[in-house]
Amino acid sequence: MFIFKESCDLQKYLKTQAKQGFSIGFVPTMGALHEGHISLIKAAKRDGGITVASIFVNPTQFNDPDDFKLYPRTIEKDIYMLEKAGCDVLYLPDVKDLYPDGLPANEQYDLGYLETVLDGKYRPGHFQGVCQVVNRLMNAVKPGKLYLGQKDYQQCMVIKKLLSITGSKAEIVICPTLREQDGLAMSSRNMRLTKEQLINATGIYKALIYLKNNIRNNTGAVLKKNAGDILADHNLVPDYIEIADADTLELLNTVQNENQVVALIAAYMGEVRLIDNMIIPLNFVPYGN
Ligand code: AMP
Repeated sequence: MFIFKESCDLQKYLKTQAKQGFSIGFVPTMGALHEGHISLIKAAKRDGGITVASIFVNPTQFNDPDDFKLYPRTIEKDIYMLEKAGCDVLYLPDVKDLYPDGLPANEQYDLGYLETVLDGKYRPGHFQGVCQVVNRLMNAVKPGKLYLGQKDYQQCMVIKKLLSITGSKAEIVICPTLREQDGLAMSSRNMRLTKEQLINATGIYKALIYLKNNIRNNTGAVLKKNAGDILADHNLVPDYIEIADADTLELLNTVQNENQVVALIAAYMGEVRLIDNMIIPLNFVPYGN
């Protein structure tokens, strides 16, 4: 695997590959890699071409300075995992390479409604930071395909919007959320949890399963109350528990048959903020019904 720390070297290399007809599949990450990240690398590899991963803990998307400071960094293990997965290129920039004019970055994107709900509401400025870094990474890598995880559902929608704003022709490939055996969504932030907290963190998955199984027969208020009780039983403190239209993220209080919906939860386990979601398909029949 080639490792480039500067975008000019990365671009020189990728140009030579493009001349030979190779397409580029790109997996941006913040490192502290787990099998969820690796599933994106594998998806890119399956599609052929050159697989490029990036690792950069982007300061502009952290609205909480402690969260940035405490974000896990495991670069040596990350490199080992990427090599083992057959990743071709790792772009490992520092702040100067991505933000040559320094911080804060000034560009703002009109994300409209997406920035007013869920993580947009609870993490002010977060999605502007995501767009700032993803646009810079896209300009450096210029991929044909961009691989993202459904785990960050709203982020996928934000990046889709970013690509339409910037006129990027890159195709977005959304990959399913990888989970631990007990259902907990894999996340770099799980590394910050104690053993007991890790067990309790499965409450988010249990609450999502509850919502999925009970969505047809209850009002939003009842669903949220009961899901909230599940979280509380597991020492989880929610920012939000919501059911939304899967295409628009419009928040819903009742579910009509024509809606394809997504249940989304953000909750704190101690100091660590975790998110997860579950798409509930139109034709879903709850278990036992
Ligand atoms: P991050 O390093 O958290 O910025 O994530 C980098 C990419 O990996 C994003 O597109 C995430 O949505 C994706 N990702 C994170 N966790 C998972 C998971 N458990 N399963 C699949 N993809 C994931």
